[in-house]
Amino acid sequence: MPSASETSEPALPWRLRSDLLIQAADVSHAATWTIKDPMRLTYFYAEAEEMAFLNLLNGQTSLNGILNQLRQQFPETEFSAENLRQFLLSAVNGGLLRACVPGHSLRLNLIRKRQLAQAPLRRMLSLLTHRYRGIDPTRILNVLDHFFGWIFHKYIMVAGVLICGLACLMVFARRGQLETELPGIAALFTATNLPILALSLLFIKMLHEFGHGLTCRHYGGECHELGVLVVGFMPLLYCDVSDSWLQQDRRRRMLVSAAGIGTELFLAAICALLWAVTRHGFLHTFFLNVMLVSSLNTMLINGNPLLKYDGYYVVADWLGIPNLASESRASAIAVLDRMILGFSGMSFTRRSFGTHWAMVAYGFASMVYRILVVTTLMWFMYGMLKAWHLESLISVLLASVVAGFAMTAVRGGHERLRIVNSNPALRIRAISGVCLAVCLLLIVLFVPIPYSVAAPFTLTPGVCAPVYALEDGEIDARVSEGDIVETGDVIAVLSNATLESAVTQAQGEFRVATARAAGLATQRSASSQAASRLPAAEKAVRSRELRLEKLSQKQQNLTVLSPGPGIVFAPRNKPRPRTHAREGMGWFGRPLDPELNSVWIHRQTLLCWVGTDRDLRALCLLPQEDIELIEDGAEVTLTFVSLPAVHVTGSVTQRNAIPETLIDRELIANHMVSATPDSLRPQETMFGVAVSLQFDSSTTMPPLYSSGFAEIRCVPVSLASRAWRFICHTFTFR
Ligand SMILES: [Zn+2]
Repeated sequence: MPSASETSEPALPWRLRSDLLIQAADVSHAATWTIKDPMRLTYFYAEAEEMAFLNLLNGQTSLNGILNQLRQQFPETEFSAENLRQFLLSAVNGGLLRACVPGHSLRLNLIRKRQLAQAPLRRMLSLLTHRYRGIDPTRILNVLDHFFGWIFHKYIMVAGVLICGLACLMVFARRGQLETELPGIAALFTATNLPILALSLLFIKMLHEFGHGLTCRHYGGECHELGVLVVGFMPLLYCDVSDSWLQQDRRRRMLVSAAGIGTELFLAAICALLWAVTRHGFLHTFFLNVMLVSSLNTMLINGNPLLKYDGYYVVADWLGIPNLASESRASAIAVLDRMILGFSGMSFTRRSFGTHWAMVAYGFASMVYRILVVTTLMWFMYGMLKAWHLESLISVLLASVVAGFAMTAVRGGHERLRIVNSNPALRIRAISGVCLAVCLLLIVLFVPIPYSVAAPFTLTPGVCAPVYALEDGEIDARVSEGDIVETGDVIAVLSNATLESAVTQAQGEFRVATARAAGLATQRSASSQAASRLPAAEKAVRSRELRLEKLSQKQQNLTVLSPGPGIVFAPRNKPRPRTHAREGMGWFGRPLDPELNSVWIHRQTLLCWVGTDRDLRALCLLPQEDIELIEDGAEVTLTFVSLPAVHVTGSVTQRNAIPETLIDRELIANHMVSATPDSLRPQETMFGVAVSLQFDSSTTMPPLYSSGFAEIRCVPVSLASRAWRFICHTFTFR
């Protein structure tokens, strides 16, 4: 049977291009090969088996023929026709092969054409990255190497590592200071500082790239490109040291990859030491900033082996797995394929059991981390664009990412469909696997998950009764904050000499008018003149009476009474006025404070609130997208900034339908809500939610107007609907 199919099977019409530069990637063990395409200046790595396969392609042998030869050559490796076909496809797509049959060059043309047709689309879609070729830095590097070549001396490098270690220890010892100074970094981002910061970032990146270039040049490599790579809207410098791939000494190759990380870490160390010895000021914060930017960038992005930047190449070279990224991704996807579709293994390289699963784990970790980085980047840009009201721009980016992902998914799905269709035995297993996976996915996406939102709040008097001064007067407080009062108890007495004398005068006038009217009444029968003047006198009595009544009422109002039983809560502190020009004219503090005794208070001034602790409300501020998820009666846990260990529970009593126009000073002072500078207006639309608190007798109640963070339990929402709501709020097609 096999011989019959072998003879009838057509020969593979491909041959390895003769113009490729092929050399062993490592002098120590010739298991891997580097292939340089001199036409396109691209590089490939091939393992011994892959290289053997490429060499066996002569345009005359069939796939099974090559398979048999490979099995003889590498008896311990498992080959299958399917994985050879896969590798052949990637080699064809990579442009390593040339077609031997005229008909096949047409096919090749078709592939090229399709790639060309996709190119502009892909470029348009992948706005996330774009490359602008820059200058040829060879001459600069030669000069630098001439003067600074000594830094590659063994002892100098060891000294550099020691300095980095020292800086690490020093920062660890001062972690308390670091923690307190971190919020101060935001103060650095002022209009005057921004150009300096941007320049310093450019300088860091320049040093990084020259680190690569100089190391590459020092060890005899070529470096002909120093350009700009745009990731998102962020321009990054890059230095093309891809020729170092042809560097046969693995240790040197690792050094070239690690040079950028090394430069940045050394810079971070120097800045950390400078930060430690400088006093507070611009330079101190600037050093801290450079230290953080360089070290965080190294740890999270550039030096992190999960992303395909410098750290990755160091690790790949160190492990001796040149195609670590693609191979581990393929292994991870192969595991998924096996679990869901029941496909058998695809890889044909020899890896031990442990290495294989380590690769699978690495593959999954790098995929997840990449998604995480892209999401964080998008989220960060969303925040920045939102501040300039340009958040719809993020839709362009999101569309490009989603389209890129969809294209890959469609291609992968198509490929798998073809494999399943060609193998009927796989069909039932694949269909049931896909159904199960889809069910699991739907459960994850659509099962409502309880979750909560965090919101800043201030403790407000809520539904306590306000007590106002009804008249102007000098205040004499009879109660103080925290006193318990009954209905009708005197809160304060105001004295107003003008009012008092007006009352006395009115009383006198009333008495005079009454006496006059009484006199006229007795003369009425004797004198007609008196009779005629009587109505006017009586009218005057009534008007004097009315005036007296009015003034007496005002006089009574000078004594401020409690409207109900409860505790006296002080109103918000009135801040000291900024200008002292009219000092003595106004007052500041709280009207019931003993220091304010005899101070002139205007009518309608809020003196205090009277109520119980049940009347108090925490006023939480929430953005539009969160307020919709909260129901009346939702459970809330409140934590006060001043009492971090105490958690007070409560429930939502009211949700305001009108956005808040003014934000409490406390929240702005504590950086809990961002407001427009010099005003108390919130930067984004915020809605208030009133929460009643359940104090138990043991908790000490924090003072009124204390602020903190509330955790509000929301209506359970599924992941899918949360994603949908986020999209709806980002793009305004509601
Ligand atoms: Zn780099």
